[in-house]
Amino acid sequence: MHCRWIVIGALISFTFSLNVPVLMYHEIRTPNVNDTDLRRDLSCSPQQFIQHLNWIERQGYVTITSGQLLRIPCPKRPIMLTFDDGRESCYFAASELLRHGMRGVFYVNTAAMGKANHLTRLQIIDMSRMGMEIGSHTVSHTDLRNLSMKQLLFELSHSKKVLQELTGQPINSLAYPSGGYDQKVIKAVKHLGYFSARTTGSGCFLGLDPFRIPVIRVHPSTTPQNLARMIKNGL
Ligand SMILES: [Zn+2]
Repeated sequence: MHCRWIVIGALISFTFSLNVPVLMYHEIRTPNVNDTDLRRDLSCSPQQFIQHLNWIERQGYVTITSGQLLRIPCPKRPIMLTFDDGRESCYFAASELLRHGMRGVFYVNTAAMGKANHLTRLQIIDMSRMGMEIGSHTVSHTDLRNLSMKQLLFELSHSKKVLQELTGQPINSLAYPSGGYDQKVIKAVKHLGYFSARTTGSGCFLGLDPFRIPVIRVHPSTTPQNLARMIKNGL
């Protein structure tokens, strides 16, 4: 009985005290004049990125994986750094994280592996060995809400299987492509054994629903000062 109350107490305090910023990056590159507005907006320059890491370090944050996000107790002052789309520059990001003694979560859409401007299989294996978490961003980066059940299950299960075989690690986390999900999608994600899924909605993770993890979206103009304000306001 005593034990039960301790567990319930821990769950209540976990639910109400957890407030984890989950940053969302895409490409770590300097935007140029030929970029589309979208690509520009999804870029963060290497200099800016390193400034973010130095700021995160000074603030005493501990970078965590999605597994640590759901584990009790979560480290003190946790922050999760996520990277979508498996672009080539993610390898640079992983190397910088390693240099800072930090970890990141890289969501890879497996059909793009080895294509121009995307991570190769060997780079993904290397990043996993560096201690980075590799998560699924489906096979073809399609909006999961528009698919038949057969296609939906394929996108979720095949990407998981390919990345598991590649890294030798269990793949338990997902980022919904373009942030698209609904009840049917969440049900399939749970059914296939994922433990968490990240959205593109704004906010910090309060421990409420691991299949609707919100983010702080990083823009090219996001300075460390902006980051501090966005984390404080959950934007
Ligand atoms: Zn994406």
